[in-house]
Amino acid sequence: MRIAAACLVLLLAVPQAPAQTLPELGDTSGALISPFLERKIGEQAMQEIRHDPAYLDDPELTAYVNEVGRRIVAASSDAQQGFEFFMVRDNTINAFAMPGGFVGVHTGLLLAAQTESEFASVLAHETAHVTQHHLARLIGKQEQMSIPTLAAFVLGLLAARARPDVTQAVIAGTAAANAQTQLNYTRDFEREADRVGFQYLQQAGFDVTAMGTFFERMQKATRLYENNAPAYLRTHPLTTERIADMQNRAQNAVYKQAPDSPEFYLARAKVVAGQGQPRDAVVHFDEVVREHRYANEAAAHYGLASALARARDYPRALSEASAARKILGPHPMIELLTARIRVAQGNPAAARDVLRSALSRNPNYRPLHYAYVETLQETGQHQAAIAWLDELVKSYPRDARLYALQAKSYAAAGKRLLHHQALAENYYLQGTLPAAIEQLQLAQKSGDGDFYQLSAVEARLRDLRTQQAEEKKNR
Ligand SMILES: [Zn+2]
Repeated sequence: MRIAAACLVLLLAVPQAPAQTLPELGDTSGALISPFLERKIGEQAMQEIRHDPAYLDDPELTAYVNEVGRRIVAASSDAQQGFEFFMVRDNTINAFAMPGGFVGVHTGLLLAAQTESEFASVLAHETAHVTQHHLARLIGKQEQMSIPTLAAFVLGLLAARARPDVTQAVIAGTAAANAQTQLNYTRDFEREADRVGFQYLQQAGFDVTAMGTFFERMQKATRLYENNAPAYLRTHPLTTERIADMQNRAQNAVYKQAPDSPEFYLARAKVVAGQGQPRDAVVHFDEVVREHRYANEAAAHYGLASALARARDYPRALSEASAARKILGPHPMIELLTARIRVAQGNPAAARDVLRSALSRNPNYRPLHYAYVETLQETGQHQAAIAWLDELVKSYPRDARLYALQAKSYAAAGKRLLHHQALAENYYLQGTLPAAIEQLQLAQKSGDGDFYQLSAVEARLRDLRTQQAEEKKNR
């Protein structure tokens, strides 16, 4: 896993070992650092992660994992906190939570889960780590540490958890050596995350027996593979007691059937179709379809269509996409794939029409909006793109991707002030305050803004400078 490797490098740069005093484990109020600082640490860590090649910047997969996450978070006590779930291209079965509500999910976890409730059970457990402030409690109040150092420490801790084999050899004598000893305390955190996560899973309407089933299956796999245990089990030492606890809780709960969403199967197919050589992916899905080896027929055709699109067999890709549509109806993920195939065929106008009608049926599915704006941009319709984005940012003011798209169209339309202003918001939402401030300064100097635009830039600049000063005080 590249992220773990990147974390190790960071970890070696951690100058100081954290204090050994640990917070009381029973203390659930126990965040020793402020929610503000937790968020800042998470944002800082995300900056590293977003630059990692394993970070999977796929709008549909991101939308899917956030939809499952949203249901779980809504069931938690922390529904107000802004959670961000993201996918990591890594076939090991793993997931990890960072302070401030950032939860990473390996593609391997999505593929290993046999039902959506199984997938959700791990997300619920990770969400509980966030709401119970476990990592924050582990860090303690490290007033002498800067936010970047704390972020590096968090990434180091996660790397140490995921790769004990590597880390022990490499990082002896560094902060992580202390981190490793602290991990012994985390078994209590795991029990708490199981218990709290179970409540979220139940309240979110998933099948509560899934947690025990999934973990038990992972444990069996561990016995088969000896040293090649799923990463999740290395970071989450499974005891018979933990599994028994999960099963007991499930037995005492009212059984609720929770059918899998079509997105669960479509997302899995998209991951598989995107892996390895395109031709191999085609061969795989051809077999799946021919031999009826699927839990969801539409997703099998969708996977084949995705693989064919990668292999540039566009006519067949289109016919498989329409086979999927015949079974499932006009699902936005299928429509998006169809539009992408049209673009790849050199027909962005056809793509635009597909997206426009898909948007009329699914006006809140943001990946459709991104793709629609991109086709407008590809056909040089920047004014239309700008108008579309103006409406969108009103509905989703915290969506960084919208501002990046805005910046692109403003640049193409020769609007310098607005270009820098949009970039500033994009950087701001990704937690890079200094870069955001720099863009606003460039906007000020752009020389092409009117009085109102300049006033808005100045007001925003004052606002961000105040935030920067606050941050310096708070660390
Ligand atoms: Zn855990």
